[in-house]
Amino acid sequence: MDICSTPGLMPIDDALANMLKSITPVTCTVEKLLSDSVGYVLAQDLHSPLNVPPFDNSAMDGYAVRIADLSNTTTLEVVGKSFAGIPYKGEWPPASCIRIMTGAKIPAGCDAVIMQEQATIDATTPNIVDFSQALPVRDQQNIRSLGEDIGQSDLVLPKGHRLTPRDIPMIASLGIPSLTVLNKPKVAFFSTGDELKPLGTPLQEGEIYDSNRYGIKIMLEQFGCEAIDLGVIPDDKDQLRQAFIQAQQQADVVITSGGVSVGEADYTKIILEELGQIGFWKIAMKPGKPFAFGKLLATDDSADAIFCGLPGNPVSAILTLYILVQPLLAKLAGHADWKAQPSIPAKALTGFKKAPGRTDFQRGIYTINEQGQFEVSSTGNQSSGAFRSMSLANCFIILERERGKVEAGETVYIQQFAPVFYA
Ligand code: AMP
Ligand code: MG
Repeated sequence: MDICSTPGLMPIDDALANMLKSITPVTCTVEKLLSDSVGYVLAQDLHSPLNVPPFDNSAMDGYAVRIADLSNTTTLEVVGKSFAGIPYKGEWPPASCIRIMTGAKIPAGCDAVIMQEQATIDATTPNIVDFSQALPVRDQQNIRSLGEDIGQSDLVLPKGHRLTPRDIPMIASLGIPSLTVLNKPKVAFFSTGDELKPLGTPLQEGEIYDSNRYGIKIMLEQFGCEAIDLGVIPDDKDQLRQAFIQAQQQADVVITSGGVSVGEADYTKIILEELGQIGFWKIAMKPGKPFAFGKLLATDDSADAIFCGLPGNPVSAILTLYILVQPLLAKLAGHADWKAQPSIPAKALTGFKKAPGRTDFQRGIYTINEQGQFEVSSTGNQSSGAFRSMSLANCFIILERERGKVEAGETVYIQQFAPVFYA
């Protein structure tokens, strides 16, 4: 049988393409202090207003020289000092040098800095420095030239770049105190299920703790969204309807977990169909098969909201949020340089159970062997309800849709976890 045409199962790429085509990036902007800007997306290209460094300066503690002065002598008299922030301002007589510190402005006429470790001073004549150890001296040696890191008006970061902690010192070096960034998408989310209890309340018979909401919240924040937590909604028609409406009114995206699997809590489906245009999909992925996607339509002057219904099983919920919803949120956030983690070939250290038909995201632990090759083993129990498998793992082992059982020693593809799982 042609697995690619498995009836009723939507390939992951088709689901992604379907979702992404309905997303228009946010356009509203806000001004953020540089120190508060990490995680926001630049609303416009960032050009440098100045050269970095803004003047030629010394890369070493040592002596500023003119190489020609050393053509027929190895000793020069020190006639002044240039310190960081306190440049040398006097005349620079021929056949002399200037003491200079790291970061200090290079005096006019200087064409090299000799590091102090290559200079010899006789204690009886402290003003005379012997440079014989430093010869030959190379033109421009130990000089950091104006604009060598960043030139004035250079494009330093493009529109659509999401700001990282690594960008901040660079932008600060340009003297830019605040940035115009895109507003974060607002994402409202809630858990559905009569069995779910929030943390801090005792469990009655048949109840479990709501774990998905805690994971969803932190992941949404890591994705660069404003997360609006609407709590746990019981499997009750009126309360669900109210929650969906409330969520749609205050958010760009509404995410729920639970209640989207086949034949379960049918009124969730009825309400969603009543409030919007929602498709109930069976995705060709394991875990994570049941998934709902569409729009919740506004009935007042608020805007429609995108809807993503995650499956309830904890691994499925977090996996579908990561694999399917994350690219959508990145596009919505205007995060143009977002990329999924690359797939890396690794040697399977153990066998993996697998049936053809769905792409499998098993939870794995990779290591790098002495030959520099990736090797991977399973975290154990791969049930979609066994969240410990996510906590133990450092990667997904992605077993192709058409693939069957994997024997130890075969090559598999792994995807290292993105920073969202580590921060
Ligand atoms: P459902 O998709 O509602 O049929 O739920 C599938 C499974 O996931 C059931 O075992 C639920 O109890 C469980 N589940 C649903 N929502 C959550 C949640 N928020 N936290 C933990 N487990 C959940
Ligand atoms: Mg449920």
